[in-house]
Amino acid sequence: MTIKDLPEGEDIAQIRQSVRRLCASFAAEYWRQLDRDNAYPSDFVKALSDAGYLSVLIPEEYGGSGLPLSAAAAILEEVQRAGANGAACHAQMYIMGALLRHGSEAQKQKYLPGIAAGELRLQAFGVTEPTSGTDTTSIKTFARREGDHYVVNGQKVWTSRAEHSDLMLLLARTTPKEEAEKRTAGMSVFIVDMRDALKDGMTIKPIRTMMNHATTEVFFDSVRVPADNLIGEEGRGFRYILSGMNAERILIAAECIGDAKWFIDKASAYAGERRVFGRPIGQNQGVQFPIARAYAQMRAAELMVHQAARLFEAGEDCGEQANMAKMLAAEASWAAAEACVQTHGGFGFAEEYDVERKFRETRLYQVAPISTNLILSYLSEHVLGLPRSY
Ligand SMILES: Cc1cc2nc3c(=O)[nH]c(=O)nc-3n(C[C@H](O)[C@H](O)[C@H](O)COP(=O)(O)OP(=O)(O)OC[C@H]3O[C@@H](n4cnc5c(N)ncnc54)[C@H](O)[C@@H]3O)c2cc1C
Repeated sequence: MTIKDLPEGEDIAQIRQSVRRLCASFAAEYWRQLDRDNAYPSDFVKALSDAGYLSVLIPEEYGGSGLPLSAAAAILEEVQRAGANGAACHAQMYIMGALLRHGSEAQKQKYLPGIAAGELRLQAFGVTEPTSGTDTTSIKTFARREGDHYVVNGQKVWTSRAEHSDLMLLLARTTPKEEAEKRTAGMSVFIVDMRDALKDGMTIKPIRTMMNHATTEVFFDSVRVPADNLIGEEGRGFRYILSGMNAERILIAAECIGDAKWFIDKASAYAGERRVFGRPIGQNQGVQFPIARAYAQMRAAELMVHQAARLFEAGEDCGEQANMAKMLAAEASWAAAEACVQTHGGFGFAEEYDVERKFRETRLYQVAPISTNLILSYLSEHVLGLPRSY
């Protein structure tokens, strides 16, 4: 059995087919070896870039294909569904939105065509800090204006792909929190050219994690960033970052749907083949039901992802739907992962089945880029009108 796609336009169906073909040329052993070596999938990312998939959201006038968010979501879903790991490159799709929406024409001309051509990588997103965690308004990294430059000091953590990116989108304080008119004010967004910054006070330190994720800590020791690299207006950066969150949530949710489909296909196939007590294990309802339940969860989450994407594309407020899509899809992928390991018994732990690798990888999405509690908190406060809790 292979899970059928929900009805969607011919163009998206074709994109899915060609992403599947591309992913099929990177065998499971490719991903296993990278996982063993904790290495970055440079060839895979290059193939996706060369095929134009990472620049689908960049408008045609800047060299991209100007497709809607649902096309990007379909691409990332198919990557995950093929057993690959889109975390190596997904950020470029949504980080670029801040530049597109809030950058000057000169900035867009300077960066977007290179990004669209795959010559310039905008893969690093420096928001989270060790001491502030989810409380983004308490970040400490500070950019002080000095003539035609800003001088940046501070530290970011979990800056994924920093070693495999030319540019970083950085959120820093330009006014201390205590002096800002409100806590969400006084932060600014910069494009940091890391090729220059690495020669001028920036240090990147990899963090080893339970899955192969190329994540890092980044230290800024008086790094000089040209004032021309400020995105939009000084002090309004938090708003610019927030404006990209819905797209990020929807794209990550699509990845989780892809993961869930991979686990469900894999579990169903194994349950049909594996014979114990003289019959397929999948004949036992104790084996069937967790897979069937995960399938139902995935389908429900998938509808929410589609709804959120439709609202986003119509320019309507989709905060509620994007958040719910992310939470439900991450929970569905985890339920599917759990069912898949259990169905495989001991083999669920063996590297050669790929289940344990995908299991480790998909766990992340209940924590990053936003944890489930913070989504529930958003729904409680902004949708249900309950009192603010933090
Ligand atoms: C592999 C990986 C890659 C990442 N990549 C990036 C990246 O590229 N760029 C980037 O900027 N960040 C990145 N992150 C950071 C990620 O966004 C954060 O880890 C995530 O937002 C949670 O923040 P935290 O780890 O500081 O947890 P904390 O804020 O310390 O929270 C810890 C736990 O407490 C809960 N909690 C905290 N406050 C509340 C509250 N008020 N109510 C209820 N529960 C609460 C949280 O839900 C969480 O479960 C990455 C993280 C990981 C692990």
